[in-house]
Amino acid sequence: MTDFERGLAEGLDQLRREGRLRPLTVLQGPQGAEVEIEGQRYINLCSNNYLGLNTHPRLVRAAVEATEKWGAGSGAVRTIAGTQSLHEELERRLAEFKGTEAALTLQSGYTANLAVLGSVLEEADAVVSDALNHASIIDGIRLTKARRYLFPHKDMEGLEERLGEARRDGARRVLVVTDGVFSMDGDIAPLPQIVERARAAGAAVMVDDAHASGVLGRGGRGSVSHFQLEGQVEVQVGTLSKAVGVLGGYVAGSQALRDTLIHLGRPFLFSTSHPPAVVAACMAALEVMDQEPQLQERLWENTRYFKSGLEGLGFDCGRSETPITPVIVGEAERAAALSDQLRRRGVFASPIGFPTVARDQGRVRTIVTAAHTREQLDRALEAFADSARALGLGRAGAA
Ligand SMILES: *Cc1c(COP(=O)(O)O)cnc(C)c1O
Repeated sequence: MTDFERGLAEGLDQLRREGRLRPLTVLQGPQGAEVEIEGQRYINLCSNNYLGLNTHPRLVRAAVEATEKWGAGSGAVRTIAGTQSLHEELERRLAEFKGTEAALTLQSGYTANLAVLGSVLEEADAVVSDALNHASIIDGIRLTKARRYLFPHKDMEGLEERLGEARRDGARRVLVVTDGVFSMDGDIAPLPQIVERARAAGAAVMVDDAHASGVLGRGGRGSVSHFQLEGQVEVQVGTLSKAVGVLGGYVAGSQALRDTLIHLGRPFLFSTSHPPAVVAACMAALEVMDQEPQLQERLWENTRYFKSGLEGLGFDCGRSETPITPVIVGEAERAAALSDQLRRRGVFASPIGFPTVARDQGRVRTIVTAAHTREQLDRALEAFADSARALGLGRAGAA
């Protein structure tokens, strides 16, 4: 064994001892309200496919037709020969959707954050970030030369203090960055208060709406629309991989922001653009979101129904305000045990423990979608009740 391979083996042993080694779950078919795993069907509560669009016939048809007409791949990075008129058409529609001057698509929401945070700020600038922001924001901030400040989760006094500190440290431009909806707890960022404090300090605001697009705001336009803050948030990052049901990320804002990313955003410059199928399916998704508002309504009906069912069973759902509903049970092992019990009862819901969340905040994270039927939600709730009883959790466990 080489030193390199020995190092890998030791690293994996360490993960195994920490209970962090988990095999990938392999689906044998489409990702929907139910999924097939090893020949068994499960109700799927791990999906970011909020509106069920990934299998919508209009998206599928658009992808097939675009492949036949435009080819399977784009063949180059955007700045060389990888910009087809389809790419720019999608960007125009995204800008229209978000109510901004311009938009730019990137390979994923992850790279969208890397592109913005890695390119728009310079050494003399500062970035001020919520402590529970998504990993892609954290990684993006690692790329900037600007000074970095962290404020406690949604703590507006903390934000004010950090803004004051940044100014005293001589920051030229300051960018406040937050998730729109936080991915672990499903709580919503207090965007009006953030914008107000940023304005008072002469700072700009960036919101990552990965879990808010398709979910919050008119027609799923996200948190800026939800709070009616149109025109007051400089940078809106979104993903095409969750509610939109396909793949990709985008940045919506001014034309100058778009031009800056085109010239300085390294993921944009050095990685190949989306295949035509992806772009066409995303455009079809925007049309469906516009023409089938009942999907967003059903998502919220299902969310309210399922959340109140879980709370009725005595579970701690934390501070969730959106379809992301954690069932907080404590240690990571308890979360894993609950997930295993659910799995035995035909429900697929993933456990999340330390270090992704605090040690005593281990949870099974559930997300319902517009595609779930009432019958599936009832079956899932029954599985939660039976699992809780088996493990002595919640009200069912105490009884
Ligand atoms: C999922 C997520 C991303 C990454 O989006 P992808 O398109 O899957 O790369 C970025 N930010 C937040 C807040 C997310 O939840």
